[in-house]
Amino acid sequence: MSRVYNFSAGPSMLPEAVLNQAREEMLDWQGSGMSVMEMSHRGKEFVSIAEKAEADVRGLMAIPDNYRVLFLQGGATSQFAMVPLNLLQGATKACYVNTGSWSKKAISEAGKFAEVIVSATSEAEKFTTIPAQDSWQIDSDAAYLHYTSNETIGGVEFQEIPDSKGLTLVSDMSSNILSRAVDVSKFGVIYAGAQKNMGPAGITLVIVREDLMGNVPASTPSMLDYAQHAKSDSMMNTPPTYSWYLMGLVFEWIKNNGGLAAIEARNIRKAGKLYDQIDGSDFYSSPVDPAYRSRMNVPFILADDSLNDKFLSGAKNEGLVTLKGHRSVGGMRASIYNAMPEAGIDALVSFMQEFERSNG
Ligand SMILES: *Cc1c(COP(=O)(O)O)cnc(C)c1O
Repeated sequence: MSRVYNFSAGPSMLPEAVLNQAREEMLDWQGSGMSVMEMSHRGKEFVSIAEKAEADVRGLMAIPDNYRVLFLQGGATSQFAMVPLNLLQGATKACYVNTGSWSKKAISEAGKFAEVIVSATSEAEKFTTIPAQDSWQIDSDAAYLHYTSNETIGGVEFQEIPDSKGLTLVSDMSSNILSRAVDVSKFGVIYAGAQKNMGPAGITLVIVREDLMGNVPASTPSMLDYAQHAKSDSMMNTPPTYSWYLMGLVFEWIKNNGGLAAIEARNIRKAGKLYDQIDGSDFYSSPVDPAYRSRMNVPFILADDSLNDKFLSGAKNEGLVTLKGHRSVGGMRASIYNAMPEAGIDALVSFMQEFERSNG
């Protein structure tokens, strides 16, 4: 067996320790005689798995008691609709910050339910930066302010939690949740699909402040109502049990590796090595404003883009895969989530140096 360093933006690498544990427990989970996939979601075995996952993520993120943690389906994309459905509560406006492709999708979906006020946009800068906060137009009649804490495609990341000027703050953290410590108490809702930094596809974590639930239009489908999910402990219907279990193993892995402070320090080091390599040569460049460069998704461009295919195939020969940039940005993109080992970064940096030597 030979595993590659997979720089995919998502689904993406999982920690090897997690995959090994899942393999060991595949046929017989802890003496139950069953695979987790075969268990009733209401049986005591699975309920213990579900409760442990919740307790672990509460501990890791220091989630206050007045927040519920929901384990939902439908991806972050469903949250683009659930957020306005649950939070408008009679208001007609919502504020959104537009920092890239995922913000745009959230804005477009919210437009079905609300008058969207784009408080700030970096579209004119091709989404390579984040507009200065003192320029944001925040309407005090809006129900909430939404932002994308890390733009997975553009590689732009908020380094601080923005000031929402009193509005309920909502964040799509799909591609940087659990990569750094955040103060959950500053938010009304945090949501994230699992498949970037937490587990396999099919499950979405939603952290919602209790007082924001339970005030939806009567026509709202139960499956889109946070309060209904909270009331049934995310088991209104059959949840994605195996994804929930694997996500729990990832939480445990983070705990065993020193928690978020240690993970964050490692992420700063990993991203730093890669940006140093990019900035240290004229052969490579980063399109992103240095103040907002993502620690998770690192786009970079070759000065001579006719070498792109040669770069990608050479990298693949070294076991460094899925480095092709998103079509909207071009060049390369290295997604280096929590599960990317530091050795994977070192291997990529060595390859970049070697490639420059033979083609520069
Ligand atoms: C991947 C991604 C999404 C979409 O997630 P799905 O789970 O596929 O719906 C939304 N927002 C961000 C920031 C993402 O990276």
